[in-house]
Amino acid sequence: MTIKERVDGVIERFETANPHPQTALHYCTPYQFLVAVLLSAQCTDERINMVTPALFAAYPTPLEMSRASEEEILSYIRSVTYPNSKARYLKQSAESIVQDYGGEVPETLRELMSLQGVGRKTANVYLSVIIGEPRIGVDTHVYRVSRRIGLVPQTANNVLKVEESLMRRIPREYWNRIHHWLILHGRQICFARSPHCPTCPISDYCRHYARHYGSDGVEKK
Ligand code: SF4
Repeated sequence: MTIKERVDGVIERFETANPHPQTALHYCTPYQFLVAVLLSAQCTDERINMVTPALFAAYPTPLEMSRASEEEILSYIRSVTYPNSKARYLKQSAESIVQDYGGEVPETLRELMSLQGVGRKTANVYLSVIIGEPRIGVDTHVYRVSRRIGLVPQTANNVLKVEESLMRRIPREYWNRIHHWLILHGRQICFARSPHCPTCPISDYCRHYARHYGSDGVEKK
């Protein structure tokens, strides 16, 4: 199977099943989306959606978040992963947005990544979802699933290489959606420890499946 056949086949399956994938994070404003994505690192979207309503009610804008203490912010996000670091990031990034960008979330990759706690993945996801720029945010699911399927070469062994490989191989019109599709696939079927390969709807295009399962669908010893 050529790379193009694999890419085209996977995209066709994903698009047929879910033509308009959306983020699962709840938000009302661009700033709230940035906060939700920042909080979601190493945590589940369900958990983030449980804490953000009260957090957003208390601190709806960067100005209000910047005026809160880390301890006050922490009291709203104790149940997420790494709450102390994330409380600090929320306060410091809000201060930067207020002081350096007039209270508006910046709209370039470089400026977004200058904010505390905002890495390349978070910045890419923000630009993709809020600004509509063609971007591929590579989180743990996108990294794992794209490598398993064989959408990227095995030499793509870090987040930046996976992002660049996906951008070379995936048609630009699909960049924003492939991010969501791969995350959903990683959460629902292609689990980190035990992927559910026998029930996977894209197994016939998957490099991992071809290596580990016979044509009869039985796992190789
Ligand atoms: S066949 Fe298995 S490894 Fe391949 S995408 Fe599906 S679940 Fe993941």
